[in-house]
Amino acid sequence: MHIKDAVFLEDLCPKFRFRQWRKSIHRFTGKSCIYCGKPSESIDHVIPRSQGGLSTTENCVPACLSCNGDKSDENALYWYRRQKFYDPRRAMAIRAWLEGDLRLAIRLLQWANPNSKVKNKNYEKNRSEYKAA
Ligand SMILES: [Zn+2]
Repeated sequence: MHIKDAVFLEDLCPKFRFRQWRKSIHRFTGKSCIYCGKPSESIDHVIPRSQGGLSTTENCVPACLSCNGDKSDENALYWYRRQKFYDPRRAMAIRAWLEGDLRLAIRLLQWANPNSKVKNKNYEKNRSEYKAA
């Protein structure tokens, strides 16, 4: 009954659905920026909307505000190659993400940042540490 209600609510309120979708994108990377690994605060279009990029999961990646703002209207793969924090494993992950292979993308990201999995598990613990700092 509750599940039915939730579906109904989502259909009734696209904003709610959108918020859930955004959350799920951040969850894939453990809330870290796909480009630099810092905490993701926004959703970035790999292919900008101005170049016909769609707001689909394949084209939307978690990004920090700094990367998102710096990249602006550029194609992410070209922009990323010029960054100081460029990592070929992350570039491969972005490409895999764009192709809809999120599982491969996440594996590549974990390879690029082996601590991310641990961080993920201790997310609650880390959050309280942030508060204390
Ligand atoms: Zn970033």
